Amino acid sequence: MPRSVDILPADDRTNGWSALLPTRAPRSALQGDLDFDWVVVGAGYAGIAAARQLARQQPNASIALVEAGEVGENASGRNSGFAIDLPHAPSTSAESTERGRRAIRVGRFALDELDGLVKAHHIDCDWERSGRYHVAVTEEIAATVLKTYASNLEAWHEPFQWLNRKELQERLGTDYYSAAIYTPGTYLMNPAALVRGLADSLPLQVRLFENSPVVEVELNGPSPYVRTAQGRIRAGKLILTVNAFSQSFGVHRERQVPVLLFASLTSQLSDSQLALLGTDVIWGVTPAHGVAGSTLRLTRDRRLMIRQGFEYSPTLRTTEARRAKTKAMNLDLLRRRFPQLGDIKLEHFWMGWLAVSQNHAPAFGRIADNAYAASCCNGSGIVRHTAAGTLIADLALGRKNPLIDDFLIQGTANYIPPRPLRDIGVGLTLMWDMWRGRAEQ
Ligand SMILES: Cc1cc2nc3c(=O)[nH]c(=O)nc-3n(C[C@H](O)[C@H](O)[C@H](O)COP(=O)(O)OP(=O)(O)OC[C@H]3O[C@@H](n4cnc5c(N)ncnc54)[C@H](O)[C@@H]3O)c2cc1C
Repeated sequence: MPRSVDILPADDRTNGWSALLPTRAPRSALQGDLDFDWVVVGAGYAGIAAARQLARQQPNASIALVEAGEVGENASGRNSGFAIDLPHAPSTSAESTERGRRAIRVGRFALDELDGLVKAHHIDCDWERSGRYHVAVTEEIAATVLKTYASNLEAWHEPFQWLNRKELQERLGTDYYSAAIYTPGTYLMNPAALVRGLADSLPLQVRLFENSPVVEVELNGPSPYVRTAQGRIRAGKLILTVNAFSQSFGVHRERQVPVLLFASLTSQLSDSQLALLGTDVIWGVTPAHGVAGSTLRLTRDRRLMIRQGFEYSPTLRTTEARRAKTKAMNLDLLRRRFPQLGDIKLEHFWMGWLAVSQNHAPAFGRIADNAYAASCCNGSGIVRHTAAGTLIADLALGRKNPLIDDFLIQGTANYIPPRPLRDIGVGLTLMWDMWRGRAEQ
């Protein structure tokens, strides 16, 4: 039975990263009835990687990539721009160390892939291996979360530096943090420029349709299809890579929940503000408290970026009042960290959805005879979903790839009860996490 897709992405045209880029002409929307060997739905990191892998492995196959909006305006282009090489492990047990090692293998594979593509196609996205400061505001989180992370890094034989408040002040221009762990392998970039570049460098046999929201889908049977307002694609096999929007397709509804994240970019810092900051070396900060903490960057074009605000979002929509409150909080948190900069101004404020599971594991695999899905990025999707997209294509192709086992060793997203029970459970858990971690904001 075909299914109507109930909630579609709605681009509010606020993405700060793409506002900094030249205009890009989107590819044509889908028109008419077409047949392809493969159809991939969703052109974020996962969908683009899946389409590229299908093309590599089947150079004569026809591949359609169908995107509701414009490439770069989705979460893949709205994120904080950290391509992170290392996972986080909650404990230092032997099992968790081994899982971490295998996650690192997957992560490094995806990072090498991205690095290779950026260089081969000259993707102009400020791609730079700047490393990452994983920070704690309070001594308590430094002594617990950061200490565990340090033990994990030692067990994985990964290089890192432990930095105190004074050292961080020198490097970041703020004494807000009590401690941090610096690891060198993370790349920073403008994510909208990266994902545009990846889409625009796809092999010619991949036909990308933009501004083509899928409104109906048939996942079952020998020829799955997707329908848009003006066309339909029937394919031998279908791959769904719509992450937070999977629930609208009736897929992984019971395993993942959509969450909404907010971010801001300031206007460019003046020469005198930069002098007061004390550094012009670009840096990126991720919070040790993943839910309550803030992600921060100094960009190559001298802006500060902050990602703060995290809410359960079952309707994939929010309100103006909520946006206004979060925007004010973004500005307040920047001013608290950098009082010496005086009147910091936000030039861009935006939001984006991603999917998380209760056990931080992905939702990945076959969903019908000829249909596959990779979703539930749990954050870190630049790397993780570049890997997931490549690996779901391999699974659909029947290719043996040991990285699939490495990827799945993280487990599979576990069952979450349906609404309204879920609203109470997830809503309360998030509120509790936010409250407990409020000092880490
Ligand atoms: C504010 C923010 C900050 C983040 N920071 C980071 C970070 O620093 N590093 C990191 O690694 N990750 C970060 N993330 C997470 C990261 O953005 C995601 O993990 C990643 O984008 C997932 O990629 P994806 O391809 O699976 O999904 P998406 O990027 O969400 O792509 C899914 C695509 O499916 C399309 N789609 C949905 N419904 C339909 C339909 N009906 N028809 C057609 N197409 C459809 C959407 O338009 C979208 O383009 C952040 C996310 C946000 C929101």
